Formats: sequence, structure tokens, C-alpha cells
Amino acid sequence: MILTHAHLDHCGWIPRLVKEGFKGKIYATPPTIDLCGVILPDSGHLQEEEAKFHNKKGTSKHSPALPLYTLEEAENSLPYFHPVAFGELKTLSDQFSFRFVHAGHILGAAMVEAFLRQNGTSRKFLFTGDIGRVPQVPDSPGRVVHAGPDTGEDPDMLVMESTYGNRTHPHDDVRPELAKLISDTVHRGGSVVVPAFAVERTQKFLFLLKQLMETNQIPRVPVFVDSPMAIKAVDICLKYTGEFNQESRELISTYGSPLEWPGFTFAAKQEDSRKINDVLYPCIIVSSSGMVTGGRVLHHLMHRLPDPKNQVIFIGFQAPGTRGAIIKSGAKSVRIFSQEVYIRAHVNALEQFSDHADTAELLRWLKTFKKKPETTFLVHGENEAAGLLQEAMTHELGWKVNIAHWMEKVPLV
Ligand SMILES: [Zn+2]
Repeated sequence: MILTHAHLDHCGWIPRLVKEGFKGKIYATPPTIDLCGVILPDSGHLQEEEAKFHNKKGTSKHSPALPLYTLEEAENSLPYFHPVAFGELKTLSDQFSFRFVHAGHILGAAMVEAFLRQNGTSRKFLFTGDIGRVPQVPDSPGRVVHAGPDTGEDPDMLVMESTYGNRTHPHDDVRPELAKLISDTVHRGGSVVVPAFAVERTQKFLFLLKQLMETNQIPRVPVFVDSPMAIKAVDICLKYTGEFNQESRELISTYGSPLEWPGFTFAAKQEDSRKINDVLYPCIIVSSSGMVTGGRVLHHLMHRLPDPKNQVIFIGFQAPGTRGAIIKSGAKSVRIFSQEVYIRAHVNALEQFSDHADTAELLRWLKTFKKKPETTFLVHGENEAAGLLQEAMTHELGWKVNIAHWMEKVPLV
């Protein structure tokens, strides 16, 4: 198995595969392996919690409801991971070798260049995984990891993501808008809740908060980072500072580890988390899960959403159907722990934080290709996004572009 990066929609099934008997090697970059070491056990833990909850409440159609895998089963899958560094050519057989190149998406995220040889012919296949922001200049705001995806590709066949094939992200600096939202909230006596993916996204956000405080752009209110995973992820982010862009590297070297910043509290235990509910003065709570599908952020939103003084700021993608998408849509209430919770707090979303290239960025990256792939397949996008990207690529680049169908098989050689 070749894994592009540590987001759960890419790695989340691995413990289940191992549970069902997968015994092969799982190749990934060293940062991806470190991140999976935190994310997968946590995912198992959440699975167990959810099953327990449904069994107690009788709210599942399964009896008993079972986790897809447990924390322990997730840990059992970790020995199958094998590190492959960026740029290293890994030969698996005479017919197949591959190399990881930077995808610029999140820490450790890679695209896979696969080289296939058969009967004297050699073909190059590029699987993009998720593609990060493509900067116009290397340090565009919103771009944190590496300087965008590696350029100058020349695959014969391309499989690429299309998440934002119908979208244009704002390219302006997110800091002034973020500073205003936080300052306004604090001045009306409210608190800010930021649902954020605990690994990577939370750490980037903390450095921004620190910078805004140190430059007096926001008041110095207490910041609570409420996610057991976030603490471990800080160390992983600091271990691989070489992967970040210049600006982020400077922030890290100026401010050091978030775990030591005064005024920033990391809630490791459940009781630390509950205590945050008792905080009546303005504060900032960064908690997961990012799409409000589970995790400790549920308690915080249940507690803070009904008060119009408070503010919710989304800094990540909200998949259709998730609680995050419902709250973001301007709904009047949302169901949390089987209760209808009124949404009177302010709700804003800052799209600059996106880790995915938008349509124009994808096209700009594709234009760096040294040759036209014979075929391109689009994956990882809602129908509308994939359709519009297909149209844009056909129209602007003159490429042959297909949208991959479920269970479709395509010969590579
Ligand atoms: Zn991803």
C-alpha cells in the first residue's frame, strides 16, 4: 500500500484492513507515519466511544453497535508502516518502482510517481493525492507547507483530486479578518470557538494567534487547546520544521513550542476539558473535530452556541451533511448529543486556511507539466466540482479528462 498523507479520509481504513488480514507493507513519508501514529489510535478511540454511546442510548440499528476498529487495533496496524523519504526511488520489483514528491498539502503529504515497466516499455503514472495551495509567490498567505506541489511533471497517466474544482479561494492575508473577528468578540464579552482538526491545522492556527497577540492585533485572552491529540502533534510539527515555508519557519524559531507559551493551556484530560465550560471571561477555544462530527468540540459548541456574544470560526472544509456544514449554513439550531441546540452565536468561515488548491491554482500547476498526459482521471471531488474541473481542463489545456467511476478498472500499461 502506498499512502499519500495522514488525513483520515486517506488513512482511516488502514486499521480495518489490517484487522481483516492485510499483511503487506504500507509505504509513507516519515512525517506521515508520525502523524498516523497519533491519528489512527485516536480514530479507534472515537469509534469505541461512539459505539458505547449508541449502545447506551439504543440509537443504532445494529445490536450491539460495534466500532470499525478499536484503539488497540489501530495501534496494531502501525508496525506495517515503512518510511520512504521524499525523492527516494523505491523499487518494489523489476516492473514497479515509485517515488514520493511534495504535494504541499499538509505536513508529510506526497504525490506518488509510479514507474511501470512491461515488455520493454516504461510508463509513468502520477497519483496526486490531495494537492496543496499553489502559490503565486512562494510565501502567499494561507500556504504553510513547502512551496506548493512540485512542478514540471511529465506523467503518461494522471489521477488527480478535484475537491475544489468549482471554487476560488480568497488569496488575501487572513490575519486582519481573523484579528477583527476575535477582537470584536472579546470586546462584547464573548468567547471564540474554533473547531479544528487537531493535527497540523490546530498547530498552524496557534502560531497565527501567537503572532497576532505578540503584535498587539488581538487582546491577550486565554487560549485553550482542547484535544488530547494536539499535544503530541505539536512535537511532530516541530520535528519537521524543514517542511514548512520560510514564514512559518520564522514563526517557529521566534516563538518556540506552543506547549510552553504563557496563556496557552492544553487540556489533556477529560476533566480539564470540562473545566473550560466554567470559564466565564472571554477566551479562545480550539478543539476538534474540525467538522464537528465528534470529539470535545461538541461540548464547547453545545455550551457556547446559544449565546449571541460568542463567535464560532471555521477554518476548515465542512463536508456536506456534517454538523459543521449545518452550523456554517446559517441554520437556527443543530442537534448535539440528541438535543436541539440553538445557534445564536456569530458564525464565520475563513476559507484562506484551505489546504487544497482551488480551480485556478490547479490549472496553474498543470500548466507547469512538461507534457500532456495521455489520460487524466479525476477523483476525490463532489460531482459538480469534478465536472467543472473536467470542463476547465478540457477547455483551457485541451487535455483528455475523465471522471473516475466507482469500481472502474483501467489498465496502466
Ligand atoms: Zn487531505
